[in-house]
Amino acid sequence: MRERGSLLRVLICGRPNVGKSTLFNRLVGKRLAIVDDTPGVTRDVREGEGRIADLAFTVIDTAGLEDTSRGIEARMSARTEEAIEHADVALFLIDARASVTPLDEHFAGLLRRRKTPVLLVANKCEGRAGAGGLGEAYALGLGDPIPVSAEHGEGMGELYDALRPFADDHDAIREGEKPETDGIAEDDGEPDVYTGPLQFAIVGRPNVGKSTLVNRLLGTERMLTGPEAGITRDAIASDWDYKGRAIRLVDTAGLRRKARVDEKVESLSAGDTLRSIRFAQVVGLVIDATDGLEKQDLTIARNVIDEGRALVLIVNKWDAVDDRARALGAIEDRLMTSLPQVRGFPVVTLSAKTGRGIERLMPAVVDIFDIWNAHVPTARLNRFLESMLESHPPPLVGGRRIKIRYMTQPKTRPPTFAVFANRADKLPESYVRYLINGLRDAFGLDGVPIRILLRKGKNPYVN
Ligand code: GDP
Ligand code: GDP
Repeated sequence: MRERGSLLRVLICGRPNVGKSTLFNRLVGKRLAIVDDTPGVTRDVREGEGRIADLAFTVIDTAGLEDTSRGIEARMSARTEEAIEHADVALFLIDARASVTPLDEHFAGLLRRRKTPVLLVANKCEGRAGAGGLGEAYALGLGDPIPVSAEHGEGMGELYDALRPFADDHDAIREGEKPETDGIAEDDGEPDVYTGPLQFAIVGRPNVGKSTLVNRLLGTERMLTGPEAGITRDAIASDWDYKGRAIRLVDTAGLRRKARVDEKVESLSAGDTLRSIRFAQVVGLVIDATDGLEKQDLTIARNVIDEGRALVLIVNKWDAVDDRARALGAIEDRLMTSLPQVRGFPVVTLSAKTGRGIERLMPAVVDIFDIWNAHVPTARLNRFLESMLESHPPPLVGGRRIKIRYMTQPKTRPPTFAVFANRADKLPESYVRYLINGLRDAFGLDGVPIRILLRKGKNPYVN
């Protein structure tokens, strides 16, 4: 697990009574809130580890820091200003049920002038009650407000989508700036082991049999808990135990509701699908075997890969296929030509309706998850790199050879490798593919996205 200090720092600020503490509690949940009692401050800044689905971050609550005894200008205390300075992103909360106040405008003005990026969050929007105040909120000049209800846990999916890019950037920057503490610590100390449940989503075009499959999975597996609090509305999660492994089926709006009450609700939109993918670690893409792989299926598959998730292709309605060898051959051909970047992901043929073949699904999900989590020690990576360079050195660019000096894996989920080279920006795409294919062969990394970060410079660990 990562240490707290390395997580994205998300600050909650805004005038009193907009719901800062409520949002803090919502994000931190039952996890221990760590109180940072730096001496010499009027009021402690509360810090805790926040989480929305798989996104973990440090939340800092500034509630109670306002100095209300003084004029408006002084209300954003020095302590709040300092907290903003040290945050990676600030959530600026307003109360959507009240109109925008001069104090909101004052805060907004201060925030606009800072380097810390700001997300405008309109709280108390449950049941659309805040719709009136939202229009005014645009006038604050901080972009589109994200409607949430801290008290009812609504809008957490939107908040997730808004925070996700900051978390991704944060990870990438950390890898670039601080390799000394990254790669080496992981090799010598604790690897970055994920201990939470395996988060699994089922997506696909309408009518391919997703609901039937979810029904069957939930019907045959013992449910451990009901819908998880915190991500209600936007995503519903069901936990079950699969051979001693905690699995969480994450599902956005509707799919499971549809499965449960067996009624047709409108099919999931592209946005819903994308959100499901982001909430998940492994994504089961269901296709209809009688249709084969269609363009829309490939689009979803590419989304899964682009988001860095592990993909399992579920070929459903296998009972309705006559010439199975031919059907499978056609699918494999299509995959080879249309998704060459991820070779070897699992393809499971089954019938959700009859239950035939369903027992092969979860083992495939668990296996691909383990590969997605794989961590290769630096020493092995560099022995691998040496042999790769020997059998096929990087090309000359502008008459000079690119020298690759070092390789490390700063991140898992998906496996992400940093390659250090003297002219990293000139390394051709074909050579990156050669390295990726080599990594798959050498370390059994078939079927998951692999990311390569090209870094300028020499071995960062010398000296
Ligand atoms: P803070 O001063 O900004 O930390 O605000 P609090 O978190 O203490 O909340 C102020 C008041 O707003 C409390 O009475 C909360 O119960 C209420 N509140 C917070 N979030 C919501 C919400 O999403 N909807 C509604 N209706 N009330 C909320
Ligand atoms: P969704 O829109 O993807 O959730 O699809 P549904 O689960 O509602 O299924 C769409 C249709 O396909 C329904 O008529 C199902 O009975 C049918 N269906 C689902 N799974 C299978 C299967 O394994 N074999 C066959 N022959 N039909 C299936």
